[in-house]
Order: sequence, then C-alpha cells, then structure tokens
Amino acid sequence: DSISEELVKAIRTIPDYPKKGIIFRDITTLLGDARAFRRAVDALVQPWAGSKIDQVAGIEARGFILGGAVAHQLSAGFVPIRKKGKLPHETVRIAYSLEYGIDEMEMHKDAIKPGDRVILVDDLIATGGTAEAATRLLQRMGAEVIAACFIIDLPDLGGRAKIEALGVPVRTLAA
Ligand code: IMP
Repeated sequence: DSISEELVKAIRTIPDYPKKGIIFRDITTLLGDARAFRRAVDALVQPWAGSKIDQVAGIEARGFILGGAVAHQLSAGFVPIRKKGKLPHETVRIAYSLEYGIDEMEMHKDAIKPGDRVILVDDLIATGGTAEAATRLLQRMGAEVIAACFIIDLPDLGGRAKIEALGVPVRTLAA
C-alpha cells in the first residue's frame, strides 16, 4: 500500500554492508525526511492512539530514536534497553545469540513496574533474536508487552513468529 511504498522509498539500501552479501537497510534517510519520519511514527502508534500505554521500550540504538518519538506521541515514558555496561544504576540482564557468538542486553531494574503496559520498538526485525531477548527481559520484570513494533520486517528470516510465540503481537510497516 502507499505508506509502505513511501517508507521503502525513504529507506536507503546499502549492498555489502557491514559485510559482503548483506543488504543493509539504512533508515537514516527516512529519519532525515520530515514527512516520512512523521508518517512512520504516526503509523506505528495508530493502533494504540488514545489507549493507556505506560512505557515504550526502545532497543539501542535506532530503537531510541523511534521509541522516543513513539513515547511522546502516546504520552508514555521511555525505557532504554542497552548493550551491557552502559546503564549507570542496577540492571537486569539477558544473554542472546548473534550470528557469531553471544551478547547481553540490559535495562534498569526499576524501569518497569509489574503490570506496566509496554510497547517495544526497534527499526527492523530480522531473525528476531534481539527483539525476543528484549521481550523476555520486559516480561521477566512483569511488563505486559502489548506489542512489538518495527518499521521494517525481513520476513524470510522468521523473526515475527519468535515474538508471537511469547504472546506478543508484532506490528511492521514495510518489508
Ligand atoms: P535480529 O536480532 O536478527 O532480528 O536483528 C535485528 C537487529 O539488528 C535490530 O536491532 C536492527 O536494528 C539490527 N539490524 C539487522 N539488520 C539491519 C539492517 O539491515 N538495517 C538496520 N538494522 C539492522
């Protein structure tokens, strides 16, 4: 449809980045396009306009940019989910696997109250490993994860099913 076409046009694709064979979706061009940026954020939040969302959780780093805008739009708070070692206060951590090896992400222990209605935001879902770990971390802290939202889905990589298996609906705007 037209929104997804408009967003796809606003996103730059970079072949062979960060390594040969990968087609990288570069959303900085979308962020720099005032109309596309607004349309993307409006479209992401549309199902929850007027409903009570307590926190928006954004995944470092592009999920911070989108998540901040989404939180503002929904009059919610914002919770950063970061690579380990970057948050100053007491944290909860989860390990997750990357293509090569393992990494850990964390958030502040007091960032989520049990029962908080939370929306998770990132720019893109590929294998779903990153968003799955973030969803598990939020659920472990007692969040009700209302949805996970992404601008782009790479559907061949099967990420959506991993998040849905945790009982969380997935919203994406373009493939
Ligand atoms: P996954 O864990 O395989 O779903 O990978 C998703 C994570 O990697 C997200 O945090 C994305 O921001 C990042 N990522 C993977 N591929 C791309 C891309 O082509 N463009 C921008 N980010 C990407």
